[in-house]
Amino acid sequence: MTIDLSALDEDQRVAATAPRGPVCILAGAGTGKTRTITYRIAHLIDSGFVSPTRVLAVTFTQRAAGEMRDRLATMGVGGVQARTFHAAALRQLRYFWPQVAGELPWKLIDNKFPLMGRAARAVGLQTTTETVRDLLGEIEWAKSCLLTPDAYAEEIEGSDRTPPAPAKKVAEVYRRYEEMKNRPDGMLLDFEDLLLHTAAALENSAAVAEEFREQYRSFVVDEYQDVTPLQQRVLKAWLGDRDDLTVVGDANQTIYSFTGASPDYLLNFSRDYPEATVVKLQRDYRSTPQVVDLANTVISRAHGRMAGTRLELRGMREPGPEPEFHEYPDEPTEAREVAGQILTLLDRGVPASEIAVLYRVNAQSAEFEQALSDAGIVYQVRGGEGFFQRPEIRQAVTALVRAANSDAAAQLDAVPLGQAVRHVLAPLGLTPTEPAGAQARERWQLLGALADLADQLAATDPELKFPGLLAELRRRAESRQPPTVEGVTLASLHAAKGLEWDAVFLVGLVEKTLPISHAIKAGDHQIEEERRLFYVGITRAREHLHLSWAQARQEGGRASRKRTRFLDGVLPETADSAPAGRSRKGSRPHRCRVCGRPLHTSTEKVLGRHEECPSDMDDAVFEGLREWRSAQAREHDVPAYIIFTDATLIAIAEAMPRTVTELLDISGVGPVKVQRFGEDLLSVIAGYDRN
Ligand code: ATP
Ligand code: MG
Repeated sequence: MTIDLSALDEDQRVAATAPRGPVCILAGAGTGKTRTITYRIAHLIDSGFVSPTRVLAVTFTQRAAGEMRDRLATMGVGGVQARTFHAAALRQLRYFWPQVAGELPWKLIDNKFPLMGRAARAVGLQTTTETVRDLLGEIEWAKSCLLTPDAYAEEIEGSDRTPPAPAKKVAEVYRRYEEMKNRPDGMLLDFEDLLLHTAAALENSAAVAEEFREQYRSFVVDEYQDVTPLQQRVLKAWLGDRDDLTVVGDANQTIYSFTGASPDYLLNFSRDYPEATVVKLQRDYRSTPQVVDLANTVISRAHGRMAGTRLELRGMREPGPEPEFHEYPDEPTEAREVAGQILTLLDRGVPASEIAVLYRVNAQSAEFEQALSDAGIVYQVRGGEGFFQRPEIRQAVTALVRAANSDAAAQLDAVPLGQAVRHVLAPLGLTPTEPAGAQARERWQLLGALADLADQLAATDPELKFPGLLAELRRRAESRQPPTVEGVTLASLHAAKGLEWDAVFLVGLVEKTLPISHAIKAGDHQIEEERRLFYVGITRAREHLHLSWAQARQEGGRASRKRTRFLDGVLPETADSAPAGRSRKGSRPHRCRVCGRPLHTSTEKVLGRHEECPSDMDDAVFEGLREWRSAQAREHDVPAYIIFTDATLIAIAEAMPRTVTELLDISGVGPVKVQRFGEDLLSVIAGYDRN
């Protein structure tokens, strides 16, 4: 086996071929970190420094671990362990447990929720699903930060962290929870315990440490900026006195601080290992220079320690379209316009699976799910169910149905619909002000989105009452098409970490959403984390990047929202589509070819005229094109709009192109589609008389 290093650039090669010993790769988004560490592993093996089974590669997710194994396999390298910290610890603990704990049985807790609930009630806390979940999160955080119950209470004193209950109470719950896991019939271990016990076994037993360090000699850690103190302790225990460690990370992408993760280990690496090879990768192979420029500008405004480590990325791809900035009067309009732009991209041949809509909080998906459904676009919500499938919303709808069938129904009908909905949802957690605690907050946001939807429906239909509302909610819940691989992705910014798409829509970019309101209250530290989240969002795009925000929540509502501060000074102050306003070849027409007035919606821009302005289209041609499209859709087993949207078919029927060039002149038709369907399409059109 010889590793072909020509797939790496110079800097990547330096990192991959550095002699054994500590290596730190400080690499920006899209610079090929995984590629580089994969090659490093292969190279270390190839040059005989280590044998495959003695390498342990640690990744952030199971999926990433699988990918790394696959990539190594295609390079002819088998036998390397690629796992998450948890998966690695679980395996090791299973093996070493008898040596350190003898006969004492143990079991991994599969659901710690009931246990935490009991612990909370035992110390006199009122429990709801949300408070228990928040306690789980808080205690996971404490354990990940290596804080004992006593240390936890102290730590919270002087920090900007808001605990889900008074810190002393949380500490009591924590202590009780730990006690309850020691059961007479054996020990229960949670995920954090797995790591703790693994570290302890290596720290306390010379025999275990020796056997382990005989087995594993070389370690690689991806996404090292997101390592927690607990994981770091495990890593130290693995290493012992050894220094065969390669770490990769980007401090500017630290977005999991709330779980205890800290970029300090990455940033201090060369202090801890003064002889380390430190390599910076700054060439961005993912995104166009236009996207990279925006990413650089946004992160150049960061403050604090991470800012000092800034890497100036250089876009290596061919130039592409400028990022577009759009301000809309209200959210429903924003969602509709985004859906329209997605249709245009689909028309131009961008696959649906290469398009993503990214937002800050899950509740924001509601509006976009609706707009995509209305536009007939198939989508999937990443890392969760769709809005109407979420347990919080199902429960809320059940409560609304119950209220509508109760004695109080008449009273509810006497007040405005939105108000009635808020009244019914109040006991479920829709309090007048935002609650503390991550879970309670998420529930509050979701219920709020449902109440907003009721306001919106009531505004369009003043006669709408409860039964009508319920019918509409049911319709929306059912209208969602089953997810397919071809779908557009909806995801939160957190869930988008490490992924990439050809086209990315960053939506809802307003103050109090990004940065989120609790971060604004907490101060600079958390504001900076929100800025990094924005940066992560921008750097997910390969080519098309659309950023948008709305001035009001509802149609006709008060324009009370402010564009995110992260765009201040980044885009020219003339609001709408500033940099995108620079015309570029092939961009969509802005004026109606019939009446000459400006065009607004995407459909209008595809048509090149207002929908109500007279069309010179021959209906027979349109029908012919539709038949052709149905046949294509069946043949390729995709929804019809994936082939072409109605708007584009109308535009084609109106233009009656004779050549590929004329076809390409139609704004909704891109080169990919022409390559696939051009000839076919032209022959359909040729079959009709032209006058
Ligand atoms: P993130 O910080 O977002 O996790 P990353 O640094 O892990 O990004 P990768 O996902 O590994 O980046 O790489 C980004 C893209 O660039 C991938 O599509 C990868 O195949 C490509 N790439 C990496 N290195 C090179 C190279 N030397 N030449 C061409 N393409 C490359
Ligand atoms: Mg990566």
